[in-house]
Amino acid sequence: TVHEYKAAPDLLKDKVILVTGAGDGIGKEASITFAKHGATVILLGRTVEKLEAVYDSIVEAGYPQPAIIPLDLKGATPSHYRDMAATIQEQFGQLDGVLHNAGLLGILSPFTHIEKDSWDDIMQVNVTGQFAMTQALIPVMEKAPNASLVFTSSGVGRKGRAYWGAYSISKFATEGMAEVIADEYEGTKLRTNVINPGATRTSMRSKAYPAEDPKSLKTPTEIMPTYLYLMGDDSKHDNGICFDAQ
Ligand code: NDP
Repeated sequence: TVHEYKAAPDLLKDKVILVTGAGDGIGKEASITFAKHGATVILLGRTVEKLEAVYDSIVEAGYPQPAIIPLDLKGATPSHYRDMAATIQEQFGQLDGVLHNAGLLGILSPFTHIEKDSWDDIMQVNVTGQFAMTQALIPVMEKAPNASLVFTSSGVGRKGRAYWGAYSISKFATEGMAEVIADEYEGTKLRTNVINPGATRTSMRSKAYPAEDPKSLKTPTEIMPTYLYLMGDDSKHDNGICFDAQ
């Protein structure tokens, strides 16, 4: 199965892959893993020092030199995304993969206590930002011989759960967006799929489950086979599928 996928060492050679939320958690691990397999990775995130640390570890390991795009999905507007797409087009000529990984959990609370501002932030980062970014990037992805668009969902994006409020609802929207794009581009060189990472040892997880022993959870490294499978050409014919990484 895909979560036991064994990637060839040069699986992603000559590919240009953008990862959002690349500074920490699963996005950090995915960025380093893609670079290790030969990709030129574009590291996008809001905390520059974290992105620089990931950049340095990729360069020190001798993997292809990455690029950094500091961007807060909360404040970004369609014109930021248009500029970003133009820069990628200019510098690289094509974009082979996008991993939409950045996500905001917010505060778990009863539905009637969800604050409008918190709702807006979560929808902006998890849905609207991804929408605007994807809209701007698709033309650059269409320049690639084949391109992989990957969204990140969650168990609560398939079945709503008490107290998970805006985050859960935003992940349903993410899955909907992926399905719409997948259907629209069916039969083209652009494929769109979804990953549900499952419980993974990151700061977001420990915020949601403060009493849990992190050692009982899979690490980001352990869930990378699914990420590699989806970014490499072995998944060329998969479209509109939601993959569990565990
Ligand atoms: P982390 O909180 O560890 O990392 C999330 C990353 O997203 C951080 O680098 C963060 O930046 C970035 N980010 C958050 N908000 C913004 C923003 N406004 N603009 C730009 N970047 C932003 O989370 P995980 O690694 O655990 O989660 C990764 C994805 O996986 C998320 O989409 C999450 O919903 C999903 N997921 C995770 C699970 C888990 O168990 N860990 C389970 C199911 C789904 P910064 O470092 O600056 O805060």
